[in-house]
Amino acid sequence: MYDYLIVGSGLFGSVFAHEAKKKGYKCLVVEKREHIGGNIYTYELEGINIHRYGAHIFHTSNKEAWDYINQFATFNNFVNSPIAFYKDELYNLPFNMNTFSKMWGIRTPQEAEAIIKKQRQEVTKIENLEDQAISLVGRDIYEKLIKGYTEKQWGRSCTELPPEIIKRLPVRYTYNNNYFNDIYQGIPIGGYTQIIEKLLDGIEVRLNTDFCKEKEKLSKIANKILYTGALDAYFDYSLGHLQYRSEKFELERLEEENHQGVAVVNYTEREVPYTRIIEHKHFENSSSPVTYISKEYPVDYSETGEPYYPINDKVNTELYNKYRELAKKDDKLLLGGRLALYSYFDMDKTIIAALELVKNSLN
Ligand code: FAD
Ligand code: UDP
Repeated sequence: MYDYLIVGSGLFGSVFAHEAKKKGYKCLVVEKREHIGGNIYTYELEGINIHRYGAHIFHTSNKEAWDYINQFATFNNFVNSPIAFYKDELYNLPFNMNTFSKMWGIRTPQEAEAIIKKQRQEVTKIENLEDQAISLVGRDIYEKLIKGYTEKQWGRSCTELPPEIIKRLPVRYTYNNNYFNDIYQGIPIGGYTQIIEKLLDGIEVRLNTDFCKEKEKLSKIANKILYTGALDAYFDYSLGHLQYRSEKFELERLEEENHQGVAVVNYTEREVPYTRIIEHKHFENSSSPVTYISKEYPVDYSETGEPYYPINDKVNTELYNKYRELAKKDDKLLLGGRLALYSYFDMDKTIIAALELVKNSLN
């Protein structure tokens, strides 16, 4: 008999399992994929660490999360400074003086502020992502760098999306291309999988095991279950399906040393079917003579069956809350992670949430 059955070997499940083992609990981790690590999984090809499920850049202002992850890897000083392409035009991201200068041919923060102030006058109330974006950066930037990207990313119009999504991106009136405002940032040298391997060291893991397909049998072998998969799947979709946005990642090997000169390039026009191209070698300055790139195509969840992004709108939130009520009736069940909590969590938030659960449920 196990103390804890942990469903999912992603960052959440692995942090929890690690801490539970340290406290003397006997854990079993089951994972439906053929590898551990969830979406932060990386693997090596010709001296380059490939981020299989899209670019993963660790960034945080939370010292506890930073100190925690640094126990398991050494981080480099990578700073994410993506480029955006709109048709033939190239802009720096996030929205900063380099972007404004290129867009309007201006030089000073005062000139940029005056243009944005004028353009934001059309918005009187912020009800959706379009209003929020125009109010932050004005209509020109919204039309070229936000609208097309966001509508392909989320598969719906900016007027039907919540304002919060766009507030993830900094807007600053300085010439600073750092995509994040956080104090700490970097990529683990050697990739992310080593972190999960160390977290799960000494813990029994069963790969290729879908908990939901063997729920009855597996539920009996542990006193408690920590479930980090999709909550609607746990209840066999009995109340209906939650919606997610999915992605397809197309990896290509290129016989050249340096394809795009930067780790991340965003394609912001609607007509290009992918949102980003990442060139993996630039995360760790690999000197490999070849390169690997991944194109990221946003697609409907039904196309892949892989739930990546929760869709936190009203309808889905209501349905999710009904599942949470069902989950509360089962005192053997704990929930955690991006899928089970139906939240757009970055890695640092995932670690903090897992440590919080450890504090509240293990002694
Ligand atoms: P997951 O990684 O999804 O792990 C859940 C695990 O559970 C998976 O391995 C899954 O296979 C398994 N599972 C699910 N159902 C079952 C079942 N029934 N039986 C058995 N196993 C099951 N965060 C950042 O901080 N920086 C970034 O740059 C960043 N980029 C991202 C880019 C993309 C495209 C995506 C999708 C996310 C990104 N994130 C980023 C977020 C980051 O991936 C998450 O914070 C983190 O992976 C969450 O870990 P988790 O354990 O909650 O979920
Ligand atoms: N976004 C945009 N243009 C860009 C980059 C991002 O409009 O060039 C918007 C888009 O709506 C996206 C959101 O900002 O969903 C958050 O971007 P982020 O890079 O944080 O997305 P993630 O890496 O989590 O997919």
